[in-house]
Amino acid sequence: MGETIRKRHGRLDLTQREPGPGDLAPEDLRRRLSDANAAYVAAHARTAIPSTPRLGLAVVACMDCRLTGRLEDALGLRPGDAVVIRVAGNTAAGTDDLTRSLVIAVVEQKVRTILVVGHTDCALASIEPLAFRERLSERRVSRLALGTQPLREWFGLCPDVAQNVRDTVAKLRQTPALPRDVRVLGALMEVQTGELTWLDD
Ligand SMILES: [Zn+2]
Repeated sequence: MGETIRKRHGRLDLTQREPGPGDLAPEDLRRRLSDANAAYVAAHARTAIPSTPRLGLAVVACMDCRLTGRLEDALGLRPGDAVVIRVAGNTAAGTDDLTRSLVIAVVEQKVRTILVVGHTDCALASIEPLAFRERLSERRVSRLALGTQPLREWFGLCPDVAQNVRDTVAKLRQTPALPRDVRVLGALMEVQTGELTWLDD
């Protein structure tokens, strides 16, 4: 697999056959990442990037791989512009780690606005808890490793992606650990085009 990924003119040529999920052996994946990293470092000058986000913005988005890189591009965000936190289904369900990150962003990094970005065709809208439980069992992981909460709640399953954003926005607005003066906005991104629709309420 590794030989299909060659450097051309100092840049990675990824136009040849792309690997499918799980195709790359760990050592090939590591080599690919290292090659990309070397090309990146060679192509980019060292410039100081502020550690507090220039726009005073934190974006909460889904972990969906189709948003990787595209999310920032589609919002015009450069390194140093915003904190970007990505969790499955851009929801606060199942863990308080989102809150932890946001509190740090707001209190320590002067974030004034939180933007929750959902997206169309989100897997969290359609995961089937029973099938997931079976797959978990096949991988020899106990259901109890996820706690005793119903899986639907643990996932934060919501069939309506826009409603899911509104729910997360409402939850963040009511989160006691977040200062009252923080603005929380919601929007939905079309996953294929990157087009953003504001969800005003
Ligand atoms: Zn998603």
